[in-house]
Amino acid sequence: MLEFPHDAHTHTVYSDGLGSIYDNIAAAEQRGLRVLGITDHSHYLLGGGFNRYVREIRRWGSEAELTVLAGVEANITWDGIDVPHWAVKKLDYVIASVHEWVSTPEEYLTLVRTALKDDVDVIGHFGASFNYTGYPPEGELREILELAEVRGIAFEISSRYRVPGLDFVRECIRRGIKLTFASDAHFPEAVGSVSWSERVFKKAGGNREDLLFGEFL
Ligand SMILES: [Zn+2]
Ligand SMILES: [Zn+2]
Repeated sequence: MLEFPHDAHTHTVYSDGLGSIYDNIAAAEQRGLRVLGITDHSHYLLGGGFNRYVREIRRWGSEAELTVLAGVEANITWDGIDVPHWAVKKLDYVIASVHEWVSTPEEYLTLVRTALKDDVDVIGHFGASFNYTGYPPEGELREILELAEVRGIAFEISSRYRVPGLDFVRECIRRGIKLTFASDAHFPEAVGSVSWSERVFKKAGGNREDLLFGEFL
């Protein structure tokens, strides 16, 4: 059983997930979650279907036994995030993730810095590319943390990619940067698979007030 039962990053058939919005909610209820985020990939939604997506989340969410939030996972491009302001306004939150191919940690951090200056709430799977780009120097990570702190932007703890690491999470908590748990589920059975996130969060000394959606728990 999770002490902070939430999952702020899940996909459905509205992007590359296998379950419907209803399926993800049912799976979340089954697992005893208190908060579920539906966060499909922006580029699937913005070609059409975005309004229907938000409507469907609101409709099923209003009947659910838990808090259901409408989000998206935006791509961080070299020009900023690929979600326009009118769409952001209809959502509860925006996750911004690097999905571009980058060859150095500096390129990766440049993209993240771009997002931290944009209209986003959470940075998705931060550092997922460091395994093949190599790790950035300590000072550059500190700069990212400072920017997130000033801008009030959270980081997710991704159970799928197992990032970011314990030291980074500890530093977020010390600075008052909020955190979320994320399964990044692409099928209903994986919704709520966030035990890695909770383990790191608790090891880092995290409490309810350190979670972005703590008030719903
Ligand atoms: Zn992603
Ligand atoms: Zn995702």
